[in-house]
Amino acid sequence: MTQAPPLRICADDAGIAAAAEILRGGGLVSFPTETVYGLGADARDDTAVARIFAAKGRPSFNPLIVHVPTLEAAAEYCVFNDLAHQLASAFWPGALTLVLPLRPDAGISKLVTAGLNTVAVRVPDHPVAHALLSAFGGPVAAPSANPSGRISPTTADHVQQGLGGRVDAIVDGGACAVGVESTIINCSGAPALLRAGGLPVEALEACLGQPLLRPEDPQTPVSPGQLQSHYAPEGKVRLNAPYADEGEVLLGFGPVEAELNLSRTGDLTEAAANLFACLHKLDAMGATRIAVSPIPDHGLGQAINDRLRRAAAPRP
Ligand code: AMP
Ligand code: MG
Repeated sequence: MTQAPPLRICADDAGIAAAAEILRGGGLVSFPTETVYGLGADARDDTAVARIFAAKGRPSFNPLIVHVPTLEAAAEYCVFNDLAHQLASAFWPGALTLVLPLRPDAGISKLVTAGLNTVAVRVPDHPVAHALLSAFGGPVAAPSANPSGRISPTTADHVQQGLGGRVDAIVDGGACAVGVESTIINCSGAPALLRAGGLPVEALEACLGQPLLRPEDPQTPVSPGQLQSHYAPEGKVRLNAPYADEGEVLLGFGPVEAELNLSRTGDLTEAAANLFACLHKLDAMGATRIAVSPIPDHGLGQAINDRLRRAAAPRP
């Protein structure tokens, strides 16, 4: 395992070529996407993928998302039905992950799929991710580039702080615009929401012209790895707090008096983009008790509330 500090790579042509070469050599490269920074490895290389789990301290039953530059590239690894094709055509590149039947000859490491006969795929909407995936020319398995259970990274500095000597290189592409992970839809059967994320569920349902099954519906296939406690800052988190109690730091939303505010104007897109950076700041401030303003539960608010519920859940 790498112990030296990671190479900080500039996102120019030479930097992208160097990062692709590290992936080809079985190394770990953190790269920006529009959602959060990913921790990438060649999805066909068992040893490289095993290094992702080791670096993150991630439970090995937890499958990873495969990143590709185009829909055509995705079709080399999984089978698209009509609904999946409709969603991919409408929303890729973008913050949508599709779980689809794995092609038996795909060559994807079983560590990536946790031995399932489905695979999660995504085409990210970020010029640096697109350039790296195209230069590498193969499937890149990439979870978020943070220690398992901790706050996801939305800047190269967050990655450096969290994974330091455990990654070979970090490609610096600035702050992530969306700021929460992708929405995950299982499309291998009746389309089902597995995780709320950067693409609002309302937009997906409007495209499909039908409602999605929800994670709590009994027909929804179980998604391994949706841990109850996740995205956790050091401090204890209290949700739906109109104001902070004695000894608490308030993470505000809307026009409230607060040390940190996700969006003073109550804009959910701005709040999603700021969420993880605010949680990182609360850690840096040494906040031991955190109160969070109520967040409306529609659009991107569903993804924000999902992450906050997990941040507030009892720790393992
Ligand atoms: P992350 O990489 O942390 O953004 O999370 C990836 C998540 O995608 C996993 O934790 C699973 O919940 C989900 N996932 C990945 N592959 C599959 C799959 N084949 N079937 C169901 N869920 C999956
Ligand atoms: Mg993650």
